[in-house]
Amino acid sequence: MEGLMWEPFVGPPTSMPECSNCGAQVDESDNFCSNCGEPQTETARERLNKTIEKRANEQASASGSTSQRDELISRVGYALGFVFVLSGLSVLPSVAGVFFLLGGILLFPPIRLLTARVFGSPLKIEAMAVLAGVFVLLGTLLFFLL
Ligand SMILES: [Zn+2]
Repeated sequence: MEGLMWEPFVGPPTSMPECSNCGAQVDESDNFCSNCGEPQTETARERLNKTIEKRANEQASASGSTSQRDELISRVGYALGFVFVLSGLSVLPSVAGVFFLLGGILLFPPIRLLTARVFGSPLKIEAMAVLAGVFVLLGTLLFFLL
């Protein structure tokens, strides 16, 4: 009878898988180590890698679109600035030309960066556009009134 009794089960050490990263025991059904978060299966590892890759792509495209937007704004600033400076020069003997010139120069992106020296941080693009608009509007008024 004694021989038929079940021996107390002492499983081989492999019955309880260990985390390959920190050595903590993990359940076979666990996809990730509960101690350090290391993926325990190939699918879990792939899923984690895909998530990381996706996040990196999202961040890259997010920062890419903002720099594209800045570049577009700076190009528009240069284009409009040149138009106003040229039209200012063409009517220069008149005071209106001075306002056109000032408005156009304000639209050049480097001028916005220069405002950082005066105000600590560059003026907002909107503020620069409004300032330039005021100068150009004044110039237009003077041009037609004088
Ligand atoms: Zn672990």
